Amino acid sequence: MRERKGIMLLDALIIILAVGVIASLLIPYIRTEREVRLRNACRNRMQIISNLELKYFETAGGKIVPKAETTDTSDTTAQKKLVNKKDKPDTSYVRAFTKNIDELKKMLPEGGDTFDFVCPLDGRPFVIVARDSFFFSISCPNGHGQIIMGSPTWENK
Ligand SMILES: [Zn+2]
Repeated sequence: MRERKGIMLLDALIIILAVGVIASLLIPYIRTEREVRLRNACRNRMQIISNLELKYFETAGGKIVPKAETTDTSDTTAQKKLVNKKDKPDTSYVRAFTKNIDELKKMLPEGGDTFDFVCPLDGRPFVIVARDSFFFSISCPNGHGQIIMGSPTWENK
């Protein structure tokens, strides 16, 4: 009776040790899976912000109606203006990048106001740098990457 109890205890001990070993093997794998998932989610968010920034710039903060929405084709001067938009900036509105999150939020499609400007890993806000019409960048505070002037740094590797 006493011997049997001892064997059962040994069995239990072996099982506990085995579970411990398996867990220690699996945890790093689960952790990296999670990290990759969060990194990708983070990069997606930065990509969305980058697009908002470009839209903000293109429409001068919503003051200029995007090309697709203009229906009047009879006005040739307006058309000419649109065609030459890239080489000759519209002088009536100043196009600039912004680091103001509230301004960028206005560029979100309808119902997109729940979008977060934070890294999904720990909720720290993205670092947005904007210099007038010359430069903008979005960086993750956790080193998930950076988007400079609309180009993600992780795609150059
Ligand atoms: Zn991140």
